[in-house]
Amino acid sequence: MKYSELFYTIQGEGKLIGIPSVFFRTSYCNLRCIWCDTPYTSWNPENKDITVEDSVTAISQFECSHVVITGGEPFIQGKELVALCSLLDEQGYHITIETNATIFVEVNADLISMSPKLENSNPPEDNRFFTRHQRERISPKVIRQFLDSYDCQVKFVVDSPEDLSEIQTLQQEINIPSETILLMPQGITPQILREKQAWLVDLCKENGYRYSPRVHVDIWGEKRGV
Ligand code: SF4
Repeated sequence: MKYSELFYTIQGEGKLIGIPSVFFRTSYCNLRCIWCDTPYTSWNPENKDITVEDSVTAISQFECSHVVITGGEPFIQGKELVALCSLLDEQGYHITIETNATIFVEVNADLISMSPKLENSNPPEDNRFFTRHQRERISPKVIRQFLDSYDCQVKFVVDSPEDLSEIQTLQQEINIPSETILLMPQGITPQILREKQAWLVDLCKENGYRYSPRVHVDIWGEKRGV
């Protein structure tokens, strides 16, 4: 598999926040978010290779029952992802897959953590990735397939209060239960996150959504592999 890093930390976002977890970060992504916090998997993807078997061996070095497969976009390496999740499942791991929810592949997973990308993620219009990003960033059919097949959470990265109407429209169109929706502030420094927290919490209260901090950013900022 193409990957960029494998490390042991705590889950920093979402409903399993705080749980010690091994993170396996695959490389490459079909989208190009302007604020991507892992550009080394998307804009300038790292290209390291590891076999499925070796990645399971590397994961098992840690005394940990939770594995988070993240990216990049893990589902673009569908065949390898199926094999990896199957082996991890056989060994009893709790498997979370973090995805931009644009590609559906059936895998063994305990939690599908979707993060559909809003308009605030678009690269500039004159960027060569703009058209593809804008066309592919939301796939209602894929989001529905995951919701119908797995325990899911749907995390939205929110940049400004104006993003709310796009979330509400999408929620109505796909019929996403409010309790599965989490809003997270957009930002790669603790200070930027702090500036957005107060109004974002208010939006959550008004709409019955859950607020998710981003603990890894609060603690380590832009540092990698933590
Ligand atoms: S979907 Fe995720 S990995 Fe891909 S460009 Fe956006 S933030 Fe980066």
